[in-house]
Amino acid sequence: MIVHVDKFSGFCWGVVRTVDIAEEELAASQKLYSLGEIIHNPVEIERLEAKGLRTIRHSDLETIRDAKVLIRAHGEPPETYRRAKELGIELIDATCPVVTKVQERIRKYYDKGFQIAIFGKKDHAEVIGLVGHTANTAIVIKSVDEIEKLDLAKNTVLFAQSTMDKGTFYSIRDEIQKRIKAEFDVGTFEEMAVDFHAKETICGQVSGRETRLREFSRGNDVMIFVAGKMSSNGKVLFDIAQSENPRTFFIESGDELKREWFEGAETVGISGATSTPQWLMEQIKTVIEKI
Ligand code: SF4
Repeated sequence: MIVHVDKFSGFCWGVVRTVDIAEEELAASQKLYSLGEIIHNPVEIERLEAKGLRTIRHSDLETIRDAKVLIRAHGEPPETYRRAKELGIELIDATCPVVTKVQERIRKYYDKGFQIAIFGKKDHAEVIGLVGHTANTAIVIKSVDEIEKLDLAKNTVLFAQSTMDKGTFYSIRDEIQKRIKAEFDVGTFEEMAVDFHAKETICGQVSGRETRLREFSRGNDVMIFVAGKMSSNGKVLFDIAQSENPRTFFIESGDELKREWFEGAETVGISGATSTPQWLMEQIKTVIEKI
């Protein structure tokens, strides 16, 4: 069996940057709190915990006093910064610059009085951060069916969580335009009575992977997709891989591999999410080669 690791998979640069910032801090002080899991990958978290990283929840901010707190790549709402300041907690801000930029753009539209729509998952940390920049007024939608939550008589802007899929984003945009046109009985987008903008803020680090992942999945008899079960990006990419290759299996670590998955296979591809470390995929490759 020939086993390949997808060279376009693994940590995106935003996650590499966050982990680098955490490791630098840990090298200096051997103690750092991460507000929420630093990445959605338990194996990588374990590696960082061995260096002194501890994961905490927002409620823990009220009691900790003796260490710095890392803001992970997903970012946080303004409320978190305000509370940390009140409590005298030093924050190490490792928000991905791509996310920071989207937060700023959302804020500008919010300040101009726009209704903010975010295509994303309402419980995802990045979305909670984005919504926080609108005093929690943004409306989160995850499908075309949820457009009805919006009041299309208002000036509206549509943004996206960085790891969502582009196809659905554009379907939502098209449907909103269609409904506004129908409601106000106008012929063209330019004639629409309300101002509507669609800002496609899906991260290039994620969307560029789709096409390559499709090719890679088709080119192997069996695909092993490695990601944390909580990874939103992992779920999206796994679904893409499986749609191209039905013999695609999702695992978090090498312990979950099953010998029967590889029966009759000549080639195996290993791919992962933006939160999957390269070293873990290489380790899994070694395990499969011995199966
Ligand atoms: S996927 Fe993009 S936005 Fe998200 S952390 Fe990575 S680089 Fe940043």
